[in-house]
Amino acid sequence: MRMITEPAREVPVVAETEVLVLGGGPAGIAAATAAARTGAETMLLERYGFLGGMGTAAMVTNFCGLHASINGSVQQIVHGVADDILDRLAHLDGLRAPHVVTSADGLKTGAQAYDTAAYKVATDELLLSAGVDVRFHTFAVDAVVADGRIEAVLIETKSGRAAITAEMFIDCSGDADLAAWAGAPFEKGGSDGFMAYPTMMFRIADVDSDLAMAEGVPNLKALIAEGNASGKYTLPRKAGIIRPQPHESEWRANLTQISRDGAPVDGSDWADLGFAEVEGRRQAVEYYKFLKEMVPGFSNSYMLELAPQIGIRETRRIVGSYQLTGDDVLSCRDFDDSIGCSGWPLETHVLGDVKWQFLAGRGYHQIPFSTTLPTSVDNLLVAGRCASTTQEGQASLRVSGPCFAMGQAAGTAAAMARQSGETPAALDVAALQKQLETDGAFIGDKGV
Ligand SMILES: Cc1cc2nc3c(=O)[nH]c(=O)nc-3n(C[C@H](O)[C@H](O)[C@H](O)COP(=O)(O)OP(=O)(O)OC[C@H]3O[C@@H](n4cnc5c(N)ncnc54)[C@H](O)[C@@H]3O)c2cc1C
Repeated sequence: MRMITEPAREVPVVAETEVLVLGGGPAGIAAATAAARTGAETMLLERYGFLGGMGTAAMVTNFCGLHASINGSVQQIVHGVADDILDRLAHLDGLRAPHVVTSADGLKTGAQAYDTAAYKVATDELLLSAGVDVRFHTFAVDAVVADGRIEAVLIETKSGRAAITAEMFIDCSGDADLAAWAGAPFEKGGSDGFMAYPTMMFRIADVDSDLAMAEGVPNLKALIAEGNASGKYTLPRKAGIIRPQPHESEWRANLTQISRDGAPVDGSDWADLGFAEVEGRRQAVEYYKFLKEMVPGFSNSYMLELAPQIGIRETRRIVGSYQLTGDDVLSCRDFDDSIGCSGWPLETHVLGDVKWQFLAGRGYHQIPFSTTLPTSVDNLLVAGRCASTTQEGQASLRVSGPCFAMGQAAGTAAAMARQSGETPAALDVAALQKQLETDGAFIGDKGV
């Protein structure tokens, strides 16, 4: 490839803060709120003009992983900052009651739908009330690193390039952008290059919800097969999710699956992202046509909205001091350094389908603090879908509930480490756990 040399230039330091959070998805929302509440001057950088991450930008509109089936009874197990978000969403009339999700063999968990508009407003209010300095329209592009510590994040804005310095950094970019720039080890995909397939979400208005629930949802898989067999539609994913939103006649559709001739699309690759947007919109139109023409309850509906961006489930995962595995999830494993819990199944987006493996027994596992600790950068924590997991572990830990839990822990730890002058890795984990419990988090009960 032909190269040119960019002239060296001085960059203004436009802000200095104590804790800098990159990314405003579930992990970043919880991290920034917790860091500020724990007493640190906190700034959050977000490339878009709103918070929520995939929850708003990719229109996920449904919280998974907040609930678990504890010995058969579905209960909320992620609390703390997540409770504040749920309360604010309910106050804005943007939250549906939780619904039970059941596996083919009768195992259960829960999920809960929300409105994107309410989520944007609720999280603005939450972060501002916690005292977080939220900087929208800020694209982080690189880091200045010296002696294993990040000194500054470089940003591009409409006002030009600039730098922001901080004492502690938390990477909640979903793609481990900051960790990668800082030289922390990471993996991307499996050994065969596989990454979970992306989805273009869409929402539908004026659905006959009773009919769709009674006859559409239970027959969806068979109807997709019938639609494909008819030759009238090309529907690459043979099973999907259609569910009502907080306001009954509005539904979301998690149906599309984006690949290049079957190969995974890389959500951290510029060209792949552009391809996926167009292919995602094309598929969404095809699936919507199928819903309207073939699925009971959708005949008088219209497509309300396509997600602003393609939904990316998986890109880089850091290799931290411990990688949470699929076996840890399925065996409901406990950890001495637990900072939260999750009971979401392994949800693996394979070619043409989604494979589910639910947790049996107690129904949830603990999340170790070590999943947020990269091995080679002293003042960095990483939370969310790019935390330290194996690819299998990420198929569960990436959903919103555990991202809130990891984010709250990373934010609290960053503020505590800054106060004590330690690195996050050297922090007294018992003190961190005590603080998290004081702040309402559920970090697990080994007796349950
Ligand atoms: C189609 C789809 C359906 C899903 N369904 C569900 C579901 O029903 N329930 C559920 O709980 N989860 C679901 N998930 C998973 C879940 O939404 C995500 O894994 C979760 O949002 C991850 O949270 P995060 O905070 O780690 O990252 P993200 O949500 O990806 O947030 C990262 C944030 O960082 C910002 N950012 C990234 N890089 C930069 C940069 N360089 N500079 C500035 N800002 C940056 C992004 O704009 C974004 O706001 C789904 C995911 C997809 C894609």
